Amino acid sequence: VKALVSPLATTAAVRAVMRGNRARHTRPELIVRRLVRSLGYHYRLHRKDLPGTPDIVFSSRHKAILVHGCFWHQHSRCALRRPLRSNLQYWAAKLARNKARDLRDRRRLRQLGWKTLVIWECQLRDTADVEGRIRSFLAA
Ligand SMILES: [Zn+2]
Repeated sequence: VKALVSPLATTAAVRAVMRGNRARHTRPELIVRRLVRSLGYHYRLHRKDLPGTPDIVFSSRHKAILVHGCFWHQHSRCALRRPLRSNLQYWAAKLARNKARDLRDRRRLRQLGWKTLVIWECQLRDTADVEGRIRSFLAA
């Protein structure tokens, strides 16, 4: 996979972040949704009544898949976490808040009895592996 995030998607993501919203329907998310559908599971998208508005929700199973872009969610030691070039302080603070919010949302979901699976953008280079993880997550 050459580019998981198209320039257009990146622009949309930037605009969403500027507005203070998280980007939805990103290319990584669409890939994961297609995988989940191919496994025959039904899901709901972006349930706003749950902490962090999880991306892909399996209500009756109390499970949710969170698809994280490596830059916006600051994937540790990941090459896709591009270095910041301008407005360093602004971005560093914003991205640190994103990461803190992710941790808080997952903790809240856990406290409410939900299980979560995080899939990082860079892991979608190996869709067979991701498919296996989704399969065991939903079957367990
Ligand atoms: Zn990554």
